[in-house]
Amino acid sequence: MKKLSGKIAVVTGGSRGIGAAVAKGLGKEGATVIINYNHSQKEAETIVDEIKAMGSLAVALQADISDAEATKVFIEKALADFGKIDILVNNAGITRDKTFKKMSFEEWHKVIDTNLSSVFNTCKIALPSMLEQKYGRIINISSVIGQAGGFGQTNYAAAKAGLVGFSKSLALETAKGGVTVNCICPGYIATEMVKAMPENVREAIIAMVPMKKLGEPDEIAKGVVFICESEYMTGQCLNLNGGLYML
Ligand code: NDP
Repeated sequence: MKKLSGKIAVVTGGSRGIGAAVAKGLGKEGATVIINYNHSQKEAETIVDEIKAMGSLAVALQADISDAEATKVFIEKALADFGKIDILVNNAGITRDKTFKKMSFEEWHKVIDTNLSSVFNTCKIALPSMLEQKYGRIINISSVIGQAGGFGQTNYAAAKAGLVGFSKSLALETAKGGVTVNCICPGYIATEMVKAMPENVREAIIAMVPMKKLGEPDEIAKGVVFICESEYMTGQCLNLNGGLYML
């Protein structure tokens, strides 16, 4: 019997990077995985095939989770098709980095809508069924930037810090109901988001990390599985950052 056999998991932004590793990590432990994507259908379907090859069920469902109505349709379809959601990993996220002086209202709202309001959108629809079954694991992928701040990242840092406050508050409201709500705060992880940085910036970041390397997406997947198994952890941030920021 695998650790997460019988569990139904939703991973937003599961088509690439950290979300894809998390989806595979959950599938490896026996969960059925519903992989949400926005644009990367082909990549999402590849992850579905990889999970099926491990012997678990998986499907890919398109939805722009910054859109409340589209998210409602997506989560309601997941509930209708699979009967329940046990694990919700709110992973989808974007950056639109600019110094505050240059940042447009559009860049502010796009990041807040995608990285923060999306989590309200998914939880709003998924949580009632979790409370009804008295079991749920909500895991929000925040960032070290939400804790330490980031130059040119007022929008991103505000959204990621917002996730921490959101998670602690929702954890208080659901603690008696069998639903835990936690964050993971990754440091710099080797995905397209970080590979897209200019090489000199990436090198400077690596030099700042006490472990002198980027993290691997699998590390975040291991953290997600740990939180899924934990019975007594709620309202917490799991910091996976190579020692970059110590609380
Ligand atoms: P990637 O850019 O590699 O992947 C982002 C994922 O989010 C893609 O699957 C993308 O889907 C999805 N996505 C983006 N917008 C939407 C949307 N509107 N609706 C649905 N899905 C969407 O990012 P990472 O894997 O690096 O990051 C994943 C999460 O981890 C993000 O929340 C990020 O902020 C956080 N994080 C990342 C760190 C890093 O160093 N990489 C560090 C700390 C936190 P599609 O391609 O289908 O559009």
